[in-house]
Amino acid sequence: MPGRFAPTPSGRMHIGNIYAMLGAWLSARSRGDGMLLRIEDIDEPRVVPGAAELMMDDLHWLGLDWDGDPVFQSARHDLYREALHCLENLTIDDAYDSPFDERNNHTPAVGSAANNAIAGTTPLIYPCFCSRADIRAASAPQEGDRFMVYPGTCRRLIASNPDTVRQRLANGDRHSLRIAMPADTNPHATVQFDDAVFGHQEFNLAHDVGDTIVRRADGLFSYQLVVVVDDLDMGVDDIVRGRDLLRSNALQIAIRRALIKAGFRKAKTQASAPSQHAPQSQYTPYNPENPRYAHLPLIDNAAGRRLAKRERSLDMGALRAHGVTAEQVVGYCAWLLGLQGDSAHTSPQPMSAVEALQEFDWGKVRADTADRSI
Ligand code: GLU
Repeated sequence: MPGRFAPTPSGRMHIGNIYAMLGAWLSARSRGDGMLLRIEDIDEPRVVPGAAELMMDDLHWLGLDWDGDPVFQSARHDLYREALHCLENLTIDDAYDSPFDERNNHTPAVGSAANNAIAGTTPLIYPCFCSRADIRAASAPQEGDRFMVYPGTCRRLIASNPDTVRQRLANGDRHSLRIAMPADTNPHATVQFDDAVFGHQEFNLAHDVGDTIVRRADGLFSYQLVVVVDDLDMGVDDIVRGRDLLRSNALQIAIRRALIKAGFRKAKTQASAPSQHAPQSQYTPYNPENPRYAHLPLIDNAAGRRLAKRERSLDMGALRAHGVTAEQVVGYCAWLLGLQGDSAHTSPQPMSAVEALQEFDWGKVRADTADRSI
């Protein structure tokens, strides 16, 4: 069951990234599993030249190793196109296995979102012409950190006025592609999973997630699609990352299931070679339907804002330039993870990655409701 590092090369890594990477590495290596590196450079406008190389150098310096060559998303457009094409062949019924209101008009899907959309079927993937401003204007105000659930404008347009959609596509109007979620009454609309830190999770795909962009209007494949395609393709089934992706995980499970139903990539039966760090007896076969998930509490700075790349003083360039050691950084992150006792009553001690491995146990990582402050 390999794990993965999945950094976005949009700047130098900082303590928040390292803490999540350490969690991912400890999770995989503590079971003797493989660890893969995927550079998430799909969002080209965000990529900073040279950042991927610096990230790899920082990981080496910290003693966080990986197996095989790094995978770059920017070199995998054909794979993403193939995956999207598979999804375009599905209808909502195909994807969610359940009767749906429009079922009476159901005819087999014919292989393109636009064709399906205008042929009167209920495609899983459909074109959306809405701008961000359109969506904001059509949405009910959201509370707290609830992310914006798409109000379904173009999905309704396709159902009520397919000619308009056909015309707009023929005109070459700028559009993204969205994956439709099931109706909230669909028995499969609720996605459940167990998180190693946050415990049992349940999200309703209609209410909590909504129809989501899989290919942006600028033609780039979205993070939500490619992360699932990559994890499936690479055989990753130990997924460790920040709590900000907990809700996205429900969407990603839905996409994963749809891809499997669409026949995208036969499930791999074997993970990559186990590392030297733990006995082979713990080696478990790859299970593409049920990866293990762990979402880590976010680290806030003292002002309560999420630690972000703009906190230059905590980026690896600044830390290394000031003579901070790898053991200090790893020790600090291990302390944040709770591997040095209750972090409210202890102070961080330097520790190597291999020493952190001796201390690692998911039971020590607590889902503090108030995320940790530094
Ligand atoms: N590339 C994402 C990030 O840097 C990680 C995505 C993931 O782990 O699924 O936040």
